Amino acid sequence: MRLRNKPWAREMLDSHPQHVISSPEQYKGNWKAVFEKEQPLHIEVGTGKGRFITEMAKAHPDINYIGIELYESVIVSALDRLIAADIPNLKLLNVNGEKLTEYFAKGDVSRVYLNFSDPWPKTRHAKRRLTYKSFLKLYEEILVDNGEIHFKTDNQGLFEFSLMSFSEYGLLLKYVSLDLHNSDFEGNIMTEYEEKFSQKGSRIYRCEVQYR
Ligand code: SAM
Repeated sequence: MRLRNKPWAREMLDSHPQHVISSPEQYKGNWKAVFEKEQPLHIEVGTGKGRFITEMAKAHPDINYIGIELYESVIVSALDRLIAADIPNLKLLNVNGEKLTEYFAKGDVSRVYLNFSDPWPKTRHAKRRLTYKSFLKLYEEILVDNGEIHFKTDNQGLFEFSLMSFSEYGLLLKYVSLDLHNSDFEGNIMTEYEEKFSQKGSRIYRCEVQYR
């Protein structure tokens, strides 16, 4: 992700507290308080500019969604989308996914989406991959029993690493596609990266795994 300096981004995020939750730790164990309806919560870690999470929230009004993004200069684009569409079942968090357990209690989240996560190709950086075992432990600590991770990437190396990581952690592999755009999977919502890489001819890999 190429980061542009946007000195106004912080102020814009702070001026929309109805969309961007500023002190998420106060809702740990009580996320229903921020949404209109009490219904399952799905989160995306590394939401980027927010196309996936906003379109998912519009398509599935019976689910609550939270998009989590580290960089304020990136998440402001997601905020733009949210302001334009005013989607009641979507909130944004400008926080580090490494700290998920500070904001969510066990059972708060039903599903974690990881889309086109940074691949960190060097072996010495493997611990930074969002599918590394320490992250799988974090997700387990906030997910409901039998909660799921849905993962998409164009990066074959990251996909292979992730399948190994999921399997070694004991997760159940429920769905795997080695070529999502030429599969029978229905209802795919493309992310910004997915559109960019698939237009360049890259194959898209996707899997769904479940804790047990
Ligand atoms: N998911 C989007 C898509 O598919 O278009 C963005 C993909 S981009 C390659 C990865 C995003 O994850 C970046 O915006 C990055 O800032 C974010 N990210 C990486 N590590 C993160 C972390 N620990 N917590 C929150 N966001 C993170």
